[in-house]
Amino acid sequence: MHEQSAEPPQPLSDQHPSSSRHHATTAENGPFAFASCSCGWRGPARRSRDRARRDVPEHLASAAADDSSP
Ligand SMILES: [Zn+2]
Repeated sequence: MHEQSAEPPQPLSDQHPSSSRHHATTAENGPFAFASCSCGWRGPARRSRDRARRDVPEHLASAAADDSSP
């Protein structure tokens, strides 16, 4: 019995969980703060950094919803 497995083991393909594609941070522009993401998204200017930070989870949620739909 000679089994020949011609197929080489497949390497794990690139794993790209949607969350890792979005690296959001907050930045300040003068008196305003805003959230920005590595995907290019930028939140609206807020008067407090705390507010800007709250835009991040909203962006991640909508981005995740976007990714799940074809
Ligand atoms: Zn993003």
